[in-house]
Amino acid sequence: MKKRTIFVAGKNIFQKENMKRVLLLVSCISMAGAVMAQQYQPQGYSDERTKGMATEMTELYAPQPPKVTPGDIQRNTAPSDAIVLFDGKNLDAWRSDRGDAGWKVNPDGTMTVNKRAGDIITRESFGDFQLHIEWMVPEEIHGSGQGRGNSGVYLQDRYELQVLDSYENETYVNGQAGSIYKQSAPLVNPCRKPGEWNVYDIIYTAPTFKADGTYRTRPVVTVLFNGVLVQNATTIIGTTEYIGLPKFGAHGDGPIRLQSHGDRSEPISYRNIWIRKL
Ligand code: MG
Repeated sequence: MKKRTIFVAGKNIFQKENMKRVLLLVSCISMAGAVMAQQYQPQGYSDERTKGMATEMTELYAPQPPKVTPGDIQRNTAPSDAIVLFDGKNLDAWRSDRGDAGWKVNPDGTMTVNKRAGDIITRESFGDFQLHIEWMVPEEIHGSGQGRGNSGVYLQDRYELQVLDSYENETYVNGQAGSIYKQSAPLVNPCRKPGEWNVYDIIYTAPTFKADGTYRTRPVVTVLFNGVLVQNATTIIGTTEYIGLPKFGAHGDGPIRLQSHGDRSEPISYRNIWIRKL
């Protein structure tokens, strides 16, 4: 019998005979998973245990959540319990790999990437956090694909949330704005056009590690992009790599890094950056 083969990206992956065995194995695993899910599904308490309980017995009064004054949306200010990383005045909270941060602070309270000065990095390190950051691609922007308004927000200095002009600019989907670079495409594309401000609100849970340096729990991130959910509790596989697969390696708290990307397009700007430790 003539053997039929399936080609994916130019490579011979499975021969047809093997495919039957693989499908059978996958079915068995799925059935076993369904049985286990039934057995181990978390249950609420039984009627027997809740019988006779008063309504107050399930009401909590302490500890009280701390009061926080929210930021003023019109004036782009931070909540009262946030660490302000950039409020338009200076780059005191930032450094570069070589010394002081060399990006330009503009009179209108924004800052602009200086490609020659390299990335900027927060002086402080963070574990779990909520991060708010606004960015704008210049109205006059040239270039295409990854060479058009490219920057990035590195979480714990390792995991890049991509910044890019993705208004009308095609590239690989796991490299567009709102992606966890080369790992997870955004659910939708709510990117504003060049010349308008975009907003990221990021909720990040740091990984934990086993003694051998592999992940016990991987990093998890939720991202709202202009108020629209683009990463929904996404598990980050490992470090951001331009070439090759994500890597791992035990680490503690890490800074936020903003990328100075080495393309020729006009540099993007940032404003109103604050973080809340969780
Ligand atoms: Mg980038």
